[in-house]
Order: sequence, then C-alpha cells, then structure tokens
Amino acid sequence: MNPQGEDPYLEARMGMVERQIKARGVTNPLVIKAMQEVPRHEFVPEPDRRLAYADRPLPIGRGQTISQPYIVAYMTELLRLCGGENVLEIGTGCGYQAAVLSRIARTVYSIEVYPELADRARDNLRRLGYDSIEIICGDGTMGWPEHAPYDGIIATASGPDVPDPLKEQLAMGGKLVMPVGEYRFGQYITRVTKGKGDHFNQERLLDVAFVPLIGKHGWPK
Ligand code: SAH
Repeated sequence: MNPQGEDPYLEARMGMVERQIKARGVTNPLVIKAMQEVPRHEFVPEPDRRLAYADRPLPIGRGQTISQPYIVAYMTELLRLCGGENVLEIGTGCGYQAAVLSRIARTVYSIEVYPELADRARDNLRRLGYDSIEIICGDGTMGWPEHAPYDGIIATASGPDVPDPLKEQLAMGGKLVMPVGEYRFGQYITRVTKGKGDHFNQERLLDVAFVPLIGKHGWPK
C-alpha cells in the first residue's frame, strides 16, 4: 500500500495469478483467491522487491529463497484444503507461504531453523495483520507435537526422505507435501496421505529444485 491506500502491485499480482497459476492448471478457488490477496512484494526483501511477481524464486537472505509463485500455489493446492484446517509448515523463510496458507486454514504453525529469518517473518506477518500464524525457531523435521494432529503439513525445503515425526503428526486423512530427493538437484514434490491403520500412501509428483532441509531428519548441515 502507498500513502493513498492503493496497492501499486495489484495489477502485477493479478497478472501473475492469470498467467503463472491459472494458466498452468491450478483450479482450487481458495488457492487462487489467496494468491490474489497476499501481497508477495511485502515479503521480498530489497533489492528484489520489483521482481516479486516474476515467474521465479528470489533470495530472502541466509542463502534461502522464496519459491516461485506457481510452486507455492501448486503445493498449497496439493494439500486439498477446504477451509478451517490446522496446518504445519516447515521452513518459514520470509513468511509468504504461511500467509497464503492462513487465508485458507484456521491455524498455521510454522517452524524456521534460522532465528533471523523467523524474526523477520514474524515482523512481516504482524505488520500485515496475519494473526492466525504462530512461528517458532527450531528443527522442523521434528514437527511441533503440541499442536498436532495436522490436517496438512508442508515442507518448503527438500530432504532425503519424509521425516517420520511429520508423518506421525498427520491427522487421519491428512496430507503432507514436500520436495524429496537428492541434495541439490533431482528432487520431486512428494505427497503423503495418512490412511487407516497408519497406512501411508506416497505419490511422486513434479520435478523441482529446492534449498536443503537440514536438521535431525534432513541433510547434515
Ligand atoms: N516457505 C518459505 C520458503 C523458505 S525456503 C517462504 O515462503 O519464504 C526454505 C526454508 O526452510 C529456509 O528458510 C530454511 O532456513 C528453512 N529450513 C531448512 N531446514 C529447516 C529445518 N530443519 N527446520 C525449519 N526450517 C528449515
């Protein structure tokens, strides 16, 4: 918003949703609305703010990146949220994905391993009025058992495998979405759905390249 209360990026954001998100097959109206509403430029640090609606990931400090808009929308859609859910995110980064989730879910818990990123995300979200999101600093591969079970879990960094504690913290019928694969390249978005008798259905979806998930059930630092 500028002092006149106008959003100078509104057109860029609507264009992003049309060309990068709807045109590539994202159809869930809740996801589309969330991507139209959340001011991505407010989360992208300078000097890259003017690129906030470009079709690419961008640096957010500490060698980390905010994912390409399409990937944020695609992973959110894979959670199959209908509204009102309890969701966990691993890898808060700048807080953008958490903000998108919070437009759909009832509560969003998010874990970030780097304190400076967690602090900045908290400031961003508070400043913009997203008050249904709680952030802690720690190893997200252990999950956040106090608020479990989760209807949806999303990890925005890629690990060698889906961490067991995260699977355990899923609700029955809940879905977990995360990139899994090699250390830097050769990863794919994976979706795990928890069924009866602790049976997990695992799907291997889109090819991607994400920053590494570190921590106990991630890659060594
Ligand atoms: N969802 C973020 C994307 C951040 S990139 C956004 O919208 O901006 C992935 C993030 O995962 C990085 O900030 C990185 O520091 C964090 N990360 C890596 N390993 C982690 C772990 N074990 N626990 C929590 N966060 C982790």
